[in-house]
Amino acid sequence: MILPHLVSHLRPETFPANARQALADPVLTGALRRATDLFAERRGGAIAAVPDWEELRTRAAAIKAATLSRLDHYLEQFVARSEAVGTIVHWARDGAEACAIVRTIALQHDAKRLVKSKSMATEEIELNAALAQDGAEPVETDLGEWIIQLAGETPSHIIVPAIHKTKEAIGELFVAKLGIAPSSEPAVLAAHARQRLRAHFAAADLGISGVNFGVAETGTILILENEGNARMTTTLPKVHVAVMGIEKVIPRFADLEVFLKLLPRSGTGQHLTTYQSLLTGPDPAGQGPRELHIVLLDNGRSRIVGDELMRETLACIRCGACLNACPVYQSIGGHAYGSVYPGPIGAILTPQLAGLHAGGTLPFASSLCGACKDVCPVKIDIPSLLLELRRRAVLGEQGQPPTRGGFGERMAWRVWAWFTRGPRRFRFAMWMARVGEKVPFLQKLAGPVRAWHSSRELPKLAKRSFRSTWRGGAS
Ligand code: SF4
Repeated sequence: MILPHLVSHLRPETFPANARQALADPVLTGALRRATDLFAERRGGAIAAVPDWEELRTRAAAIKAATLSRLDHYLEQFVARSEAVGTIVHWARDGAEACAIVRTIALQHDAKRLVKSKSMATEEIELNAALAQDGAEPVETDLGEWIIQLAGETPSHIIVPAIHKTKEAIGELFVAKLGIAPSSEPAVLAAHARQRLRAHFAAADLGISGVNFGVAETGTILILENEGNARMTTTLPKVHVAVMGIEKVIPRFADLEVFLKLLPRSGTGQHLTTYQSLLTGPDPAGQGPRELHIVLLDNGRSRIVGDELMRETLACIRCGACLNACPVYQSIGGHAYGSVYPGPIGAILTPQLAGLHAGGTLPFASSLCGACKDVCPVKIDIPSLLLELRRRAVLGEQGQPPTRGGFGERMAWRVWAWFTRGPRRFRFAMWMARVGEKVPFLQKLAGPVRAWHSSRELPKLAKRSFRSTWRGGAS
């Protein structure tokens, strides 16, 4: 079992060892399988009721591509409209700058009691740890985030942070941390959480959130959620700070219609999230925050925008569908990736945000089955991006040493290259493969081959080769 104090120290550089450790944990793999199967099933039901689903995906992909190709223009428009309605906008080149901005805002307001709704951007910059230096660590108010904060862990899924935990494990955690009577009943546990969190909301000086979409046309930010915690985080404290990745901007208010149909259905299989909080500037009347700050976070994103081959990565709307569909994620969960962004999106985003030296092994954590591309609501071609990152890692681009496979893998590729360099050699290799196919025990001799065979079937060779068919004049 992965221990809490180890979970937060896993790094992407040690992905292969992290993955082996996760695979050895039957409780983890069981919890993951049940949860991801359930989300995939709900997603299937939700999208079946939308006849123009594919058209919506195409429209969303086109909106994102057009926005990313003129991101500077839309960001300038977003800032101008936000400031026009009274929002205070800050630019942060990296995580350290973003944390410093939020710390300064908290210090200016002498805010010690902070509440925060779920936000991957703030996880990415490790905002909680930065604020803790001033004695003002925020209380996470999303139930899943609160559970992992109590456990001292990091999220293991983009939209379901505690997906790796069973209700029994959460019950034990509440007994240990909150002193409640033993229970693993979800309704009982949720009631305890609600009672504790309400007190934090009532006392909070400052609220922090992420942003799902920022509308350039109006300066509006949208936050989606199901528990009402983001609504309370943005309305009860007098000051609110929203941390927004620069790729979250969309041109028009009407574009939200497309994304609101896609995101909840793809993520949790809901037709719509229970709450949609739209904030257009502060609200002196007190229905919203009296003071609203938006921190626009770059942290490597403008570099990705400038990389035409990889720019598509930033179209992601963080729905989590690719995680639920990925056989690798389903088997090892999110912590093994050693980064805030796990699964297929993490395998392409982390190496670009953190550099290939840190995340260079992650693009290899895929069977390239294409399930992620099939479910992605904005049609990101994740397998192609994985292949491009693999190419860069192997060639050692960006000044990093080349990623090399083990001795056995390198030899296997050399042998394969030798056999494919001439027609005679290739024919001989095919003859050997046909002989091998008739002698099954040969396939199971060596250790790596045996391991490969333990969970896969070798595809059968065609009865007649293409060459012999061609010679025979078949069409
Ligand atoms: S890559 Fe696509 S499927 Fe995966 S989280 Fe992003 S939007 Fe969702």
